[in-house]
Amino acid sequence: MAFALSNILAARKTIAGIADATPFVPSPFMTEKTGTEFLMKLENMQPIGAFKLRGAVNAVMNLPEDVAGVTCCSTGNHGRGVAYAAAHRGLRAVICMSSLVPQAKVDGIRALGAEVQICGKSQDDALAESLRLVDSDGLVEISPFDDPHVIAGQGTIGLEMLQARPDLGTILVPLSGGGLAAGVAVAAKAINPQIRVIGISMDRGAAMHASVAAGHPVEVEEVASLADSLGGGIGMDNKLSFALCRDHLDDIVLVTEEEIYHAMQVLFYEDRIVAEGACVVGIAALLSGKLAALPGPIGTIITGRNLDMGMFHRIMAGEDIRLGDTMVKGRAYGT
Ligand SMILES: *Cc1c(COP(=O)(O)O)cnc(C)c1O
Repeated sequence: MAFALSNILAARKTIAGIADATPFVPSPFMTEKTGTEFLMKLENMQPIGAFKLRGAVNAVMNLPEDVAGVTCCSTGNHGRGVAYAAAHRGLRAVICMSSLVPQAKVDGIRALGAEVQICGKSQDDALAESLRLVDSDGLVEISPFDDPHVIAGQGTIGLEMLQARPDLGTILVPLSGGGLAAGVAVAAKAINPQIRVIGISMDRGAAMHASVAAGHPVEVEEVASLADSLGGGIGMDNKLSFALCRDHLDDIVLVTEEEIYHAMQVLFYEDRIVAEGACVVGIAALLSGKLAALPGPIGTIITGRNLDMGMFHRIMAGEDIRLGDTMVKGRAYGT
């Protein structure tokens, strides 16, 4: 299926009034650090605390009248989006998640009235359960990233960013399954073909990075990360998000857990924003010097705020963080 700006313009109409247009605000600190204006699209302000509401609403609103209900696998935020969208339409929702998903996200989804199934240790295990429910209960599966309606919904972020700032030179996009990056890149490049769109992932378990490098979808080992929302594979039979990311992203850059840790402190202490590790990978890449001089102004997307507050407190206090089999060395901000 051809995917283009027209899909994203249609999505904008469908989601209007359910998923909100969000503020696009400057960061004085990052502007000074980078020497070019730096802006942040605050998707942490969405009703479910993450941008995934856009794609989920667009997908759910496009389902036929007589659908029995919906299911999905999720690292947390897509499940929350699907649960919210299903409740909006009065549909049953069953969200399948691996045991790596933080409890705060599980609780958030149950609070929206959806059923939650914890299955296995990876996104692949969760997906298998979701597909089983398609067969047994007649539910429709909504992919977190590999679905044209989902990608179109996420792409509305790119439309809003370019509408607010047609002069934008670069967009830094947190990258996992690539639904967000694909939609934003298609929207932004349709409006300004010169703009640079760069995907950023954590350096352990970056499935899209490994897949684009290999020229086809590959499996990566999923490990715990401060950027837990960026975990998971891209699907070995990926239909759309892989090709769109391969064709439309100018580069994919990886950051370490220590760089994510520091960038979370920067976003909180400098900009007073509470956000997930996944949101700060663009800031982390810039501060680590991993991005060569980029055309400005630079925009990034603060993708969500659904994090474990105990973990957040420990990072802000500069404590060490244990992630599965590794330790992220802590450091008090400004020392
Ligand atoms: C899902 C998610 C991402 C990555 O989006 P993809 O479309 O999977 O690349 C980034 N940040 C947050 C907070 C997310 O929930």
